[in-house]
Amino acid sequence: MGRDQWKAALRNPVGAVAAGLLVLLAILAIVAPIIWGDAAEETDPAALSQGSTSDHPLGTDALGRDILFRVLVATRYSLGLALLATAICVGAGLILGVLPAVLGRRAGRLVTATVNLAVAFPGLLLALFFAVVFGVGARGAVLAIGLAGAPSFARLVQTNVAAVSGRDFVAAARVAGVARFRLIARHLLPNIGEPLVVNATVLAGGALLAFAGLSFLGLGVQPPAYDWGRLLGEGLDRIYINPAAALAPGVAVVIAGLAFTLLGESIAQVVGVRAVRRRQPPAMPPAAAAAPAGTDAVLAAEDLRVAFPAPGGGWTHPVDGVSLTVRRGETVGVVGESGSGKSLTALAVAQLAPDTAHVTADRLEVAGVAPLGRTGAEVRELLGTKVAMVFQDPMTSFNPSMRIGAQLAEVTRVHERQGRKPALARAVDRLRTVRVPAPERRAHQYPHEFSGGMRQRAMVAMGLMSTPELIIADEPTTALDVTVQRQVLRLLKDVQAETGAAVVLISHDIAVVGQLCERVVVMYAGHVVEELPVGALGAAAHPYTRALLASVPDLATDRERPLATIPGRPPDPADRPEGCAFAPRCEFADDVCRTRPSLAAVGPDQRAACWHPRTQPLDLALDAVTGGQA
Ligand code: SF4
Repeated sequence: MGRDQWKAALRNPVGAVAAGLLVLLAILAIVAPIIWGDAAEETDPAALSQGSTSDHPLGTDALGRDILFRVLVATRYSLGLALLATAICVGAGLILGVLPAVLGRRAGRLVTATVNLAVAFPGLLLALFFAVVFGVGARGAVLAIGLAGAPSFARLVQTNVAAVSGRDFVAAARVAGVARFRLIARHLLPNIGEPLVVNATVLAGGALLAFAGLSFLGLGVQPPAYDWGRLLGEGLDRIYINPAAALAPGVAVVIAGLAFTLLGESIAQVVGVRAVRRRQPPAMPPAAAAAPAGTDAVLAAEDLRVAFPAPGGGWTHPVDGVSLTVRRGETVGVVGESGSGKSLTALAVAQLAPDTAHVTADRLEVAGVAPLGRTGAEVRELLGTKVAMVFQDPMTSFNPSMRIGAQLAEVTRVHERQGRKPALARAVDRLRTVRVPAPERRAHQYPHEFSGGMRQRAMVAMGLMSTPELIIADEPTTALDVTVQRQVLRLLKDVQAETGAAVVLISHDIAVVGQLCERVVVMYAGHVVEELPVGALGAAAHPYTRALLASVPDLATDRERPLATIPGRPPDPADRPEGCAFAPRCEFADDVCRTRPSLAAVGPDQRAACWHPRTQPLDLALDAVTGGQA
């Protein structure tokens, strides 16, 4: 939470009252035992079990001790024990919550299942169970309450870690080779801190009440020590003689519990917190003919498949037998509509496919490394400096809680064990390379202080912190306006020319691909349906490629009429037609198309997967597609 959010939480009337009460309780906890400690222990045989008098406003207990003083003095012990139990709960919950992200897949699932099982038990039942296990007394009660609350806190941590794990900046850190513990400490936990702070505050209130309950039952604090729970138990024995003896500690418990809970609620309002099993992978059908990979290939994928467990059993294949070769220094565009499998192909290549995905390939080599079958640590070590990712949404591509310079510097600090200063100096240098103005100042700013285009430049700079052989840019310009889009594309081109890195540009927009790339790979329904040089786009053979090109507006396009679109929708990966997946949308489909076509040569450096490839040149202004690059 930032300072402004704390201020906003305290400006809220409920938050202000709660914070005021907590400050008062904290002062009492510090000073009450010093000022009234002796008086609270002083026995008065002449005033045993008295009601309210001028000397003893809340009466006395069975030994003649002043109840008001005892309630005030008990503040320190009651709050201290509750906070200690909360600390145990938060600590154990954090460990259990992040363990699945640190351990391997199986061990992680075992921890998650154990936490889920523990959450199913009522908290009070668990607290009583632990109280019996750890024995009667304050120490046992602290452990019992702390551990009883840990499973629900761990579940909260797991849920939030899982939500943040899917964000681009975590993927970028993974690509950069950031080790698991560092990833958790620097990228995951700081970004889930708000809901955890809120929950911990509410937990403290709950711990206070639970403590009072255990002490009241005789399982908590033991004589001669006393807390509010014990005073409440003693007072209840004489409630008909002196009701204040029970009411005073009871009111103290309620007020302190409410103060913690209301402060948590106020913070929650400000920060906006409201409160597979893996099946055996399916047998793969025979592979399509693989593209031969030259020795200079920086990416060679043959029959790459990504499968996910289907809800009703079985598997779906969003990526289904993709073969792709990218040579050193080449720029290749992968284009297709949403759901064509292009982004998932890129994630699988960069070893960033979701945990539930099953990735297989006859061959997958990235920058000379075969990542499949290796552990995450090995892949990070081998690929951390060789592959760079530029993601679609520059807003989510950076960790919002870290300065831009520190995030860039992390790459070299991890891989080259560079010190903080030289790593930051390199970060500033790379920001200058991608033409971020005032890079020294910008390096000390947070991502939200950058514009969308600047963030995307900084993302490219992050890729340049090492010497990447392959830059994968996944829809890098989708969230940007047209002018900034052109600047980022030009930057990618310059970077590619300077570093000699190969670039794979993923886009749904064939015009964007045409402006940057030498070669275009068209994907549809998880398959590659056509590969061709950008200069040959006018001779595209596959009806789908031609439809994509026809939907690009040019200067001659009538602005009064709706833009051309491809009728129909891509098929659901779980329900693809038997033969050519494009058949339901294709005007040339016939009975032959009920059998799936393989990629076959249809021209120089051009292959298409179609039984009826088109041979007539397209009537399109190629400049509109390639920006004059072809
Ligand atoms: S194989 Fe048939 S249905 Fe598929 S794109 Fe070619 S002509 Fe159309």
